[in-house]
Amino acid sequence: MPEKLFEPMVFVDLETTGATGTVDRITEIGIVEVNEEGEVREWSSLVNPQTSIPPFIQNLTGISDAMVAQAPTFEELSEEVLLRLHGRLFVAHNARFDYGFLKNEFKRVGVDFKATVLCTVKLSRKLFPQFSKHSLDALIERHQLHMPARHRALADASVLWQFWQILQQQVPASQLQEAVGILTGHSSWPTHLDRAVLDELPERHGVYLFYGDAAVPLYIGKANKLRQRVLSHFGADHRLAKEMSLAQQIRRLEWIETPGEMGALLLEAQLIKRWQPIHNRRLRRSDELCTWRLLPTERDGEGGYLPELAWARDLDWGRQDAVYGLFGSQRDALKTLREIAEESQLCLATLGLEKAPAGRPCFAYQLHRCSGACVGAESWGRHSARLRTVLSDWQVRVWPYGGPVQVREGDAWHVLDAWCYLGTARTADEVQALLQQGRPTFDKDTYKILAGRLSSMAVEPVPVLVPTAVKPTAETT
Ligand SMILES: [Zn+2]
Repeated sequence: MPEKLFEPMVFVDLETTGATGTVDRITEIGIVEVNEEGEVREWSSLVNPQTSIPPFIQNLTGISDAMVAQAPTFEELSEEVLLRLHGRLFVAHNARFDYGFLKNEFKRVGVDFKATVLCTVKLSRKLFPQFSKHSLDALIERHQLHMPARHRALADASVLWQFWQILQQQVPASQLQEAVGILTGHSSWPTHLDRAVLDELPERHGVYLFYGDAAVPLYIGKANKLRQRVLSHFGADHRLAKEMSLAQQIRRLEWIETPGEMGALLLEAQLIKRWQPIHNRRLRRSDELCTWRLLPTERDGEGGYLPELAWARDLDWGRQDAVYGLFGSQRDALKTLREIAEESQLCLATLGLEKAPAGRPCFAYQLHRCSGACVGAESWGRHSARLRTVLSDWQVRVWPYGGPVQVREGDAWHVLDAWCYLGTARTADEVQALLQQGRPTFDKDTYKILAGRLSSMAVEPVPVLVPTAVKPTAETT
């Protein structure tokens, strides 16, 4: 599988009735599509040019008037061709020719075709300046490319795809990226970041950190393929102002390989919480996290519950069995509870979300939007039971393992306790060392990652044997 360095690409070649795009017409289209995953699809079609093909061109290409007489016209093919070319880097040999022809044909059917274009003549000239010839025949000979049917569209297009694969093997990634960036006019590689770093970046799972001048990272991200992900920040299709402003500030890049995707997700969440980089959106500090807890409350001799806002720092997360929702602020918590209550016709006054004199109907009751707990029309017990039921969708799961567990990924173990990520270890001693460091602050993102992964059964947690001398976690409440 060839390495994918850039955005999705199409390698294109056309056969035509002549050399002038405004007058001459296309007789054959060949397209090799390569997507982000490196999957290759080939497509070609003869095209009825609705005019005759000059004899010398029939000789060159082997495409005769008879062959194209029954072929579809460009108009009939235009939708299909557009679909294949759309949003992909357009690669062709002497690309101005092919791109110009297609633009003209599309114009005739009322389509304004535009693409980012990479010319393999220019690319070859830039990468191999020691050679004077850069024709397709010269490339085929120099790089020993396989060529079954020269001057047929798909064969010529597939030669370009072969050429591209050879470049990826022979040219350092940084040099290739720079050349493509310059030729397409779309490179936004950070001015102050050494391109040589690209050659060291592995296509492995991990976390990468962009730094400016300061010791604190500007941005932290995770990747299944580090190099591809880092490059995607500065590719042709990421010219957003946000990415550009980040690119201008980057001076240094660091990365940490992880045994797999789970490790990358956990480490990313941990490092973002630690450093709070200005270009990461997930900035909220964990200690502002709050939740709703149900407080047993008796009324009129009847047992029931009232919601009470609880803060992260006051709770033993994962051991608490009746907390609902994870909110970044008190405002979010109040807003969500109000919405839930309104949907279920619970009483806002009874829940303490709205002021109403005791025994008097709340505002919503007068609009028939409250079931009447405020005036005794709904009993305290029933209102409480309904509150508990509607909140159950929001319940934060209790840590189901009793104590710390370790989860295998690749050649390492992730050590987890009460929805917290303690770290990744490769030996039993390292596991024990992580346990002794104790649990970090409960974090919403880590909870979500773990709750998702552990319930998917994709991983099998193994309890960690904790020596009696070590008590890393608080007692169960
Ligand atoms: Zn009410």
